Amino acid sequence: MALVEVQRISKSYGALQVLTDVSLDVAKGEVVALIGRSGSGKSTLLRCINGLEPIQAGAIRIDGVQVNDPTTNLRKLRQEVGIVFQSFNLFPHLSVSDNITLAPRVVKNQPPEAARELAREVLRRVGLEDKLDAFPAQLSGGQQQRVAIARSLAMRPKVMLFDEVTSALDPELTGEVLKVLESVAREGMTMILVTHEMGFARRFGSRAVFMHEGRIHEEGRAAAMLAEPKTLELQTFLNAVL
Ligand code: ADP
Ligand code: MG
Repeated sequence: MALVEVQRISKSYGALQVLTDVSLDVAKGEVVALIGRSGSGKSTLLRCINGLEPIQAGAIRIDGVQVNDPTTNLRKLRQEVGIVFQSFNLFPHLSVSDNITLAPRVVKNQPPEAARELAREVLRRVGLEDKLDAFPAQLSGGQQQRVAIARSLAMRPKVMLFDEVTSALDPELTGEVLKVLESVAREGMTMILVTHEMGFARRFGSRAVFMHEGRIHEEGRAAAMLAEPKTLELQTFLNAVL
């Protein structure tokens, strides 16, 4: 059984159909790169998987639990599906440690000492153990994004969704964030990431999925698909971003 199962979902905002008949299975430990033009529905798909958006047709399951079932405890499900956005959304008035431990303490009732140990552990995984007591304003954009990733890791999610997490960064800062993503992938995390970093997708995405006008237009092994796109739409897209 796939860890993430998206079965024939459709999603619209009012009259605007944004996702049409999208199906995607992601196995445990798989890294899927989601690519496509702006407006093709990538962010919406991530938000649907996370249960942030209702869908009009189809089904989504995370480890067998149906996201779009009114009886599902969405709050619990969201603990298992981490999502990191382009804007890091750290709380400016809280230290790095408090940013990371807020949710584990509130949602999982972790005692402060255990929470701080957890913060230390996840910060080590993103290479920022020395920033435990820093405040967001004292960090570079790349470091802030790494803290945001650490914060997500602290919930011990089963799958992580990354939505253009390097897009807001200056080019010289994207490398350090991509390195963290690589190491999280190597740890065996199941990941779906929207990215314009084709080099990264090629090296680390076991699979690439190209979205076009709300549908999955082409998918395959990342390296092969990006080297030899089959559809004109993917060729055009790659020519524009490479
Ligand atoms: P991508 O992430 O690939 O750029 P999005 O999923 O953000 O695409 O958007 C897909 C389409 O859905 C776009 O046409 C966008 O304008 C529309 N859309 C996204 N979010 C909303 C919303 N909250 N309300 C209405 N339309 C939206
Ligand atoms: Mg988007």
